[in-house]
This record gives sequence, C-alpha cells and structure tokens, in this order.
Amino acid sequence: MNSVRVPGGCFCGNVRYVVTGPEKFACFCHCKSCQHAAGAPLVAWATYSRSSFEVTAGEMHWHRSSPGVTRGLCSNCGTAISYENNRRPGEIDLTLNSLDGAAVPEPRAHIWTEDKAPWLQLGDNLPAYKKNISG
Ligand SMILES: [Zn+2]
Ligand SMILES: [Zn+2]
Repeated sequence: MNSVRVPGGCFCGNVRYVVTGPEKFACFCHCKSCQHAAGAPLVAWATYSRSSFEVTAGEMHWHRSSPGVTRGLCSNCGTAISYENNRRPGEIDLTLNSLDGAAVPEPRAHIWTEDKAPWLQLGDNLPAYKKNISG
C-alpha cells in the first residue's frame, strides 16, 4: 500500500496532527484503563509508526495513566488522542475518531474482552481476544 498523510485533531480544534498511514492495525479496546480514560465502554484505536506522528497545532497534555503508558489528550477540551506503551516502542495508537473523516480505518478485532461491559453485545463477527492479541 502507498503511504498517505493522515490528518486528525481534537473536538475543540486546538490540537491538529498528521500521521503517515496506512495503519499497522486497528481494533476496539475494552480494557478497564481505556474505559476510565474515555468514560466510555470501549475505545477504537489505530496503530501507526511513532516517528510519523507530528502535532502541527495546539498543545497536548501527556497523562501517565499507568506505568510505562502515556496517553495524549487535548490540553483544552480533553479529547483522547493517543496511547503509547513502553512495551511497544516505535508505535503510537491514535483514537479512530480523532482522525479526519475519510481517513478512518476499520477496526479488525476486539481486544481485552475480559473487561468488556456485560451489557455490551458484540455482533460484528470480528475476532475477539480476552487480552491483547500478543497475549
Ligand atoms: Zn481540543
Ligand atoms: Zn485499552
């Protein structure tokens, strides 16, 4: 696939970024940390090369949400934008819905379904993993 510059940003318009696609992976994460960080039952993410991610406008707030994990939010409106884990150096996950419209990849799996809200029914037939795909 050809590489493509993918733009994105936050709800209030303060933060704008670009990243180079195509994404390495895209999934729905049901883990407790994502649930708390987003105030939502799950978060959809796409994984890109960290070196291709560039904030082009506005200011991010970097939140150390657990050991080795940094979540990037808009410093003004709090939109969840990024996730980085020391165990996956060179990668960055971006929230699918901070990517601009047409560029949004399709999720290919559910991960951390052991934390899934019991009232949330999955009917999309995507592969579902109790923890991360790598175990
Ligand atoms: Zn914002
Ligand atoms: Zn998660």
